[in-house]
Amino acid sequence: MEGAAALDPDVDGLFETWFRHSPDVIVILDARTGVILDASLAVRRYLGYEPEHLIGTHVDRILPAPREVSSLVVDDVWLHGAAFGERDVARIDGSTSCMLMRAALRLLSSHQVVILTLHDITARKRTELAVAEAERRYRGIFENAIEGIFQTTANGHYISANPALARIYGYDSPEALISDLTDIAGQLYVDKNRRAEFQRALQERDEVRDFESEVYRCDRSRIWISENARAVRDRTGHLLYYEGTVVDISVRRRTQEEQARAVRELEHASRLKTEFIATISHELRTPLNIILGYTELLGDGTFGSLVPEQVDVVERVRQTGLELRELIEATLDLSRLDAGAVAVEPQSVDVNALLGELAETHAGQPKDGVALVWQIAPDLPPLTTDPGKLKLVLKNLISNAVKFTEAGVVTVGVTADATGHVFDVCDTGIGIPREAHQLIFEPFRQVDGSDARRFGGVGLGLHIVKRVLALLRGAIEVHSELGMGSTFRVRLPQLQT
Ligand code: ADP
Repeated sequence: MEGAAALDPDVDGLFETWFRHSPDVIVILDARTGVILDASLAVRRYLGYEPEHLIGTHVDRILPAPREVSSLVVDDVWLHGAAFGERDVARIDGSTSCMLMRAALRLLSSHQVVILTLHDITARKRTELAVAEAERRYRGIFENAIEGIFQTTANGHYISANPALARIYGYDSPEALISDLTDIAGQLYVDKNRRAEFQRALQERDEVRDFESEVYRCDRSRIWISENARAVRDRTGHLLYYEGTVVDISVRRRTQEEQARAVRELEHASRLKTEFIATISHELRTPLNIILGYTELLGDGTFGSLVPEQVDVVERVRQTGLELRELIEATLDLSRLDAGAVAVEPQSVDVNALLGELAETHAGQPKDGVALVWQIAPDLPPLTTDPGKLKLVLKNLISNAVKFTEAGVVTVGVTADATGHVFDVCDTGIGIPREAHQLIFEPFRQVDGSDARRFGGVGLGLHIVKRVLALLRGAIEVHSELGMGSTFRVRLPQLQT
């Protein structure tokens, strides 16, 4: 310490060590002139100077413009005995470092000196700037968010609110909201219990998601909101406040309510329609059965024998009556299906026995020129399904096969594999053109209107079959070509009982 040593040759070793090796920059100035008398080794690290470069130069060299500032250091020290503050300190390469400066006036060997301690705070400054920048960014998000953002105390006071929240609740500004809305439980929620439920949810799970409530806006109009929020706690678990977001979902709620109302109305209309169809079908069936009964009595000669023309007419009346009954029954089935009123009752079905029952219904020659053949795999395992519905499906397919085959064979085959059973109803009849394979499953659709007149039927059978199979989780496919016969293949899985 040449300068200082010159001032005080008795400086003790401890001071010397502290001064020389201090982690901070220490500079000793002449208090009157501001000339540097000595500098610690840290000037090398922080400012790039060797101590001897600075000794004898004015302190302005390291505490530059405005010049007065550095002179003021000295003046301050004169006036108050010390100075303290942040200063830009010049490095040898012309750049500056922000340093925390302490200056103290001391008497060293009867010389008034200023001891300047400079502590580098560039890193701290950088962190402070980064924090300020992050704060600015988050404030931007907070201010410009579309969602309302809030912080409230547990007892229902707003700590902060963003402009979007004020807008949603109809206030001119967040400040107006915070000063006016001082009792969230009492003022905000239409259902007064809602706040308690919100708090209970936060107590139990520390967060709530999509919490939907109806609330009053500033002008007492009502809106629906959805809230997401969390409870913010300190390290000990003590609740500090709630914070969260709010979205106005009134439009969505209104649409949902309108949809629900439309569905309810539709369900009601559909129920009325089903009831109407059920009643009307029943009312039609009763007189029709009487007509059919008398027709049969007429036909079998109970009221005396008929001339051939009369037999023809009676038979035509009977046939038309039977078709009408078929139509009424199919319509009834369909309306039950539409109303979802058809329950599936799965049970373990002995398929051989079921086919035996069907064979009895179609016993003998089904129709002149058509033979019915049953091909059933031996040891057919049981199938868990609804037997009534399976019968309905097979009956429909078999009677179609017989109906659309003028002369030939109708074969009913069944096989089984691990996934379930496969039923094939195969005929050598008129066949179905490819373009009609989809269409025949639609209600009231037939391949050709003239066929309908020739073969009878109303075009509901296959549609009902497809709907019933959907209930049984089954599927149907058709393999056919015009004039080449048809095969209808039904796959049915094992259902759970
Ligand atoms: P419907 O038999 O009462 O007309 P379906 O819905 O059972 O009504 O059948 C629809 C149409 O599909 C029939 O009109 C017919 O054109 C055609 N179709 C159904 N099964 C066969 C078949 N095995 N062979 C030829 N055409 C068929």
